[in-house]
Amino acid sequence: MSDSSPYRDPAAAQYLIGEINAMASRPVRIIEFCGGHTHAIMRYGLRRALAPAVKLLSGPGCPVCVTADHDIDAAIWLSQQPGVILATFGDMLHVPGMHSSLQRERARGARVEVVYSALDALALARKTPDQHVVMLGIGFETTAPTIAAAIKQAAREALDNFSVYSVHKLTPPAMRAILSGELLIDAVLAPGHLSAIIGADAWQFIPDEYGIPCATAGFEPLDILLALHSLVRAVIEGRPQVLNTYRRGVAQHGNQMAQELLSQVLLPADADWRGLEMMPSSGLELAPEYAHYNTRCRFELPELASTDASKRGCRCGEVLAAIIEPTECPLFGCACTPAHPVGPCMISAEGTCSAFFRYGREEI
Ligand code: SF4
Repeated sequence: MSDSSPYRDPAAAQYLIGEINAMASRPVRIIEFCGGHTHAIMRYGLRRALAPAVKLLSGPGCPVCVTADHDIDAAIWLSQQPGVILATFGDMLHVPGMHSSLQRERARGARVEVVYSALDALALARKTPDQHVVMLGIGFETTAPTIAAAIKQAAREALDNFSVYSVHKLTPPAMRAILSGELLIDAVLAPGHLSAIIGADAWQFIPDEYGIPCATAGFEPLDILLALHSLVRAVIEGRPQVLNTYRRGVAQHGNQMAQELLSQVLLPADADWRGLEMMPSSGLELAPEYAHYNTRCRFELPELASTDASKRGCRCGEVLAAIIEPTECPLFGCACTPAHPVGPCMISAEGTCSAFFRYGREEI
């Protein structure tokens, strides 16, 4: 853990690790929501460095992984329609649907384009007026404002050949579902980039309703250790509260401009999550004023049921719900590797199985 970043200072990290371990006089179970945190924790060996009393659990915070099979099948169906270009972030290419994947459809001749932002998809629509560009809108509150901005821009330009298939998800409902379940959780590590949009105050329901602390954290090792230090101390001292330990990125009320944009263009809607099932108001759908840019209104999509990924032996659903660790899946590291992934948690750059494979092998 040594380079020039002040947030990776090895001496400061060792000090915090020593303090955390000394404080953990009883087992403390902390869930990190975000796949970015899981990767950073594994990459910097933080799990190994912490005392066994401090147990870190990985939650469902990877948007590719939580996308339901039937939404992947819908994207595949769209890519097969004449005159359609399906624009997607790269990670979605390899995720298997019931019979195919976007990658396979592309090899068969479908127009599937990898984009880095919704604005790239908008540029593609301007360049190809004889095609309809469908943007696969995927992500949490961090990505959603950029999609909302693209939809607004399309409306401003009266672009007729652009729409968004929104499978966006909202994090607080998912966190509520996990905290209401059977897992024993003492504290929550909240993602810093996402909290920058929704604000530290958005997590107040965690101490209020579940009586446990929550801390916002950035993605550098010292950001995470500082948050873990605050959480372990709050648990041991019995202080349920929101701790904004990532003040350089997160304001109490979040990014008001992004929130305003979202409230105009994308509204809460029921959403189906891999691993957590259908949850009310846990997704985002285009507001009625923007229906012209809603793929669901522009195409008659077929009824698609979710497949059961467990039939492939994949236990992503349980990994996402923090019920098992990736190493408990019998396919992990043998039938399922990043080179030959079986489920989305191994495919996605933010997937828990991918993090365990890349950085956690010596822990197995
Ligand atoms: S190791 Fe592979 S098959 Fe098993 S849960 Fe993870 S992604 Fe699914």
